[in-house]
Amino acid sequence: KLIVFEGVEGSGKSTQLARLQHWLVAHSAFQKLQTAGIVPELIVTREPGGTNLGRSLRSLLLDHQPETALGARAELLLYAADRAQHIEEVICPALQAGSWVLCDRFIDSTVAYQGYGRGLSLSLIEQLNDIATEGISGDLTFWLKLDAAQGLSRSRRRGSLDRMEQTHLEFHQQVQQGFETLAERHPERIVTIDAAVTEDTVAQQIQTIMEQKLKT
Ligand code: C5P
Repeated sequence: KLIVFEGVEGSGKSTQLARLQHWLVAHSAFQKLQTAGIVPELIVTREPGGTNLGRSLRSLLLDHQPETALGARAELLLYAADRAQHIEEVICPALQAGSWVLCDRFIDSTVAYQGYGRGLSLSLIEQLNDIATEGISGDLTFWLKLDAAQGLSRSRRRGSLDRMEQTHLEFHQQVQQGFETLAERHPERIVTIDAAVTEDTVAQQIQTIMEQKLKT
């Protein structure tokens, strides 16, 4: 199974992913699967940056200086390269071995950020996603829904805004619109989670859904 966490800056996806990891490992139904040898491992990974190549790409994408111009199309292609490597090196082998993969961001982020945020062609992005993933999509995607302004103020507080455009509310509202549209179009795999509540309440919502999935 491939379980993905998506959301705008400050939506708490990395925190919630770690909480789900610990909860799953301790869950008796999951442990039973492990003893039966059905689920050998739980792998935690992220995009960009789930491989060695990806970590280099991540620093190119996120830590570059303002004078190092990174055009929107170059950015899109770097994200696609990160994903292609990630699928080949990490996700595909893990899924083939029957492992569960928890992934921080995946294809929907590219649609939301590069498509809705930067205004690049959505059909081009879909094609690139298909090439990069070889058709693998998440079995379950938790979209941590948080108002863009709220997410930005949370990120600002923890000092994790490192790029100029990240301070632009309008950009983030477009990204948010992207996630909103994706959630409406793919209700079969995207679950919307209200992330404006406390960390514990968000974790509770996620666990309730996982509890049902573990039964099936
Ligand atoms: O999820 P994480 O905080 O690690 O993402 C790092 C940054 O990458 C975020 O600030 C997000 O704005 C950016 N990003 C992006 N396009 C993507 C994925 C992430 O701009 N497709």
